Parts: sequence; C-alpha cells; structure tokens
Amino acid sequence: MTAKRRALVAANWKMNGSLSANADWAAAFVPKAADLRCDVVVCAPFVYLCTLGRSLAPAELGAQDVSERTAGAFTGDVSGEMLADVGCRWVIVGHSERRQLHGESDAVVAAKAARALQAGLRPIVCVGETLEQREAGRTDAVVSAQLAAVLDAIGPEGLSRGALAYEPVWAIGTGRNATPAQAQDVHGALRAQVARQDPSAAAGLRILYGGSVKPANAVELFSQQDIDGGLIGGASLSPADFLAICAAARI
Ligand code: PEP
Repeated sequence: MTAKRRALVAANWKMNGSLSANADWAAAFVPKAADLRCDVVVCAPFVYLCTLGRSLAPAELGAQDVSERTAGAFTGDVSGEMLADVGCRWVIVGHSERRQLHGESDAVVAAKAARALQAGLRPIVCVGETLEQREAGRTDAVVSAQLAAVLDAIGPEGLSRGALAYEPVWAIGTGRNATPAQAQDVHGALRAQVARQDPSAAAGLRILYGGSVKPANAVELFSQQDIDGGLIGGASLSPADFLAICAAARI
C-alpha cells in the first residue's frame, strides 16, 4: 500500500449560521484544533465570510459557490476575486444542491472551477450520482462524465491544486452513508481516470468523501486507500462532531 496524501476535511455549513452562532462555533473549535493532523476548511455562507476572516485558524476559509464570470451585470453573483479579497482560500463547486436546485450543468461547474483557479482559489469539485442512477448501474458513467468536464477545463494539475469530492446524492443529508467499500470503489475509479492523463497529479490529488459522514463512521471511511478526507455537511454544524471527524483523518 502506498503512502496516502495529507488528509483534508471541509465543513459545508450550507445555509446555516448567524453572527452569534458562528462566534460560538469558533470559540468551541479553535482551542481544540491546534493538534489536528489534517488540513481543515470551513465553507460558510457568503455574508459571514468577511466577519469570519482568520477567526477559525488553523482552519482556512472557503465559500460554497462562485460565479463563473469575472465582474459586471450579474445580480446576486459573487466573483472569485471577491472571495479571495475577503480571505477565502477555497470554494466548493458543483455541489449537488447547486446542480439540482440551480440547474448547474457539468459545463457551468467546469467553468466555475476554472474561474476559481484564475482567482487564486482552490476548488473543491463535487461529483456524485443519484439513487436512480446508482440503481441503474450508471454510477461510474455519471461521475466520470462530471469529472471529464472539469478535467477538460482545468486539467489534472489544476484539479490537484484543489480537491475532488465524491458525494453520492442519496447519501447527502439522509443519514445513509455509502459503505467504505462503495466509496472506495468510486474513489479508485476517479483516481484512475485522472491517472490516465497525469499519473503524478492523480497520486497527489485529494479525493474527499461526502454524504452523512459522522464521528461514528469517519474512521472506517477515511481508512480507505483512496479516501483522503471528507466534505461534511450536517455534522459540521456541531464543533464537537466536526472535531471528532477531523481527528479521524490523521494521515
Ligand atoms: C454536504 O452538504 O456536502 C454533505 C455531505 O452533507 P451531509 O454531511 O449532511 O450529508
């Protein structure tokens, strides 16, 4: 077994939080975060990014979305440059909630990943199949097409500056995680797809698992050879649970 990559655990707070709840989260998280042996990112709603600043260090700051455009008449959108300006280092692109609720296509997700890199942000690119697609035996085809669009736009090296997140849609927020073996199968296939273009970038690429990760299942998931950490939704709202998940990602 080859050495794994340094783990990365990212919190996706989604549309949750408030000034006072975020301050409480930071007060509970930061004093206990110094000993973590993984990289940590917190992806907060846009409106709180400025206030959060570096208050979550050693965790880095991330956003949950970015515009595929640079500037101008795009009401409601937020550019990568703006995110970098307020201290973001990371941004999630292609989350299934963006794909499903906002109609983001593979092409739009790929354009967002490219814009993120151009703005100096590291994209966390999400891919994942629905339950219907899994049951139809189409998991590999679906995630492979989602990944291919991003590879066309930013290449393996660009992707490895950020991270890839495998998030089966049926596991997000449902309490039903993929089994470690199911997740490893997909992670292995995704890494192999990147390796066909660039073996070295593939070897360094961090592939996160997301979908109902909890303290109770994190160790087993993160011990899989091609699982390099997690993208954590619901459980990240509790600093204690999030710290326990980060502690499970030791390599
Ligand atoms: C997510 O929002 O990316 C996610 C994985 O959510 P949860 O951990 O709640 O399933």
